[in-house]
Amino acid sequence: MALASKLDHEGVRVYCICGDGELEEGQIWEAAMSASHYKLDNLCVVVDNNNLQIDGQVDKVMNIYPLDKKFKSFGFEVISIDGHDIKQIINAFNKAKTVKGKPTVIIAKTIKGKGVSFMENVADWHGKAPNEEEYKIAMEELQK
Ligand SMILES: [Mg+2]
Repeated sequence: MALASKLDHEGVRVYCICGDGELEEGQIWEAAMSASHYKLDNLCVVVDNNNLQIDGQVDKVMNIYPLDKKFKSFGFEVISIDGHDIKQIINAFNKAKTVKGKPTVIIAKTIKGKGVSFMENVADWHGKAPNEEEYKIAMEELQK
């Protein structure tokens, strides 16, 4: 989409959100290499870096680190932020818009299930929904 927009001179910015476990897949790095090769400065990738995937800790399942150096070596502008800090998120998106000649990745360090005591940093919650009681507790905790 980012390449098509460039070729058609549409001026469209493309945003792509990736989970960190997803970065273990080869197609991600093929796409990253292409984005850099075609100088897709209209592409902004956001990595949800919670270090958890369905099978457990990302660095135990298949170590993807150091993410910043990997993306840099693939020709990306790298911005690392606290993914729970809205000010940092806004600043990162604004900075990404100013980058010329290369794609940008925002590596957002996050905590899965943040704000819900029994969900925080628990890989189990990657692929299941809370039951009625858990939902009630979660909503109460999030409203505090
Ligand atoms: Mg993850």
